[in-house]
Amino acid sequence: MSQVKFNNRHKPFKEALDARVKNYFEQQHLKELGNTRLFIKTGILLTAGVVTYLVLLLLHPAFVPFLLLWVLMGLLLACIGFNVMHDAAHGSYSRNRKVNEILSYTLDMMGGSSFMWKIKHNVVHHTYTNIAGEDDDIAKHPVFRFSPQQKWYWFHRYQHIYGPVMYSFTSLSWILFSDFQKYFTRKIEATGVRKMNFWENAIFWGGKLLNVGVFLIVPSLVFGFVPALVGFMVMHGVLGVTLSFVFQMAHCVEDTRFPAPDPGSRRIENEWALHQVATTANFAMGSRTLSWLVGGLNFQIEHHLFPRISHVHYPQLSRLVQQTCREFNVPYQAYPTFGKALVSHLRHLRHMGSVR
Ligand SMILES: [Zn+2]
Repeated sequence: MSQVKFNNRHKPFKEALDARVKNYFEQQHLKELGNTRLFIKTGILLTAGVVTYLVLLLLHPAFVPFLLLWVLMGLLLACIGFNVMHDAAHGSYSRNRKVNEILSYTLDMMGGSSFMWKIKHNVVHHTYTNIAGEDDDIAKHPVFRFSPQQKWYWFHRYQHIYGPVMYSFTSLSWILFSDFQKYFTRKIEATGVRKMNFWENAIFWGGKLLNVGVFLIVPSLVFGFVPALVGFMVMHGVLGVTLSFVFQMAHCVEDTRFPAPDPGSRRIENEWALHQVATTANFAMGSRTLSWLVGGLNFQIEHHLFPRISHVHYPQLSRLVQQTCREFNVPYQAYPTFGKALVSHLRHLRHMGSVR
């Protein structure tokens, strides 16, 4: 387990926030979990995924529609990941643990691993956000230098240019390389990975095989290997870019911080909740369409403060969080649009590439 600790002995910010949020759910007679709107959205996204796949296989589309359908498939997988898998893996989708468990397997279906995700994301990323050597989300070194604590190489000068191109390989390198690296080294940055039991192993390997079977081998039997491989690469390219932008824009922008623990004590002299606010940014909070598509991940501050509350509640919680931030004189970073957050992410990459 990582040695980094936060100074949580006094946590007035989190206590004030928790009291407000508890009060909100009680007054509104709401549960903190997903609601009917989320269940409908799940139905829409899963049906759209299956229909797109069947249209591709059964209607033999011409080349351009063929490519567009693979683009759509990549976008739909990203949306299923943001809206369904992410909430389910956090246990915030349903009160029924089995439902959360089963829906988190949508990640295995996409070729990832729900077992690794729950450690990599729920534990490592959500606890040690933006801490170099701890947070797996910024562990793309040496290809990328996201944090000033990471070693600088000359090619980082160009990372704002090659970044978006490399992002298109994110999901492929994740499912074909990173998961296996974690599996065999039993480590995610400084955090250990426990041994998998029989079923966890079966789901890990079964998911990998199923993904290649569904998205590469079956299409190869219909279209031939080369067109199927092109489709597979296009789908993963779109999926990788979409996942990267949404997650990077939440933490790797000009206004987010990259705190380093004290080298001796390995302590961060801040309460955990304030660390989350300092390392996280929101974007396009006014866009209902974007919020619907990215599963509330544009309200990343609220998500990091309350990862076990479903994303459907984040727009309402953001008012309480902003009010508490104002009272504690803590900056609440929010970019008005997706475009502004994207530009800020690219500027952050350029900055990290230009200073050693
Ligand atoms: Zn999360």
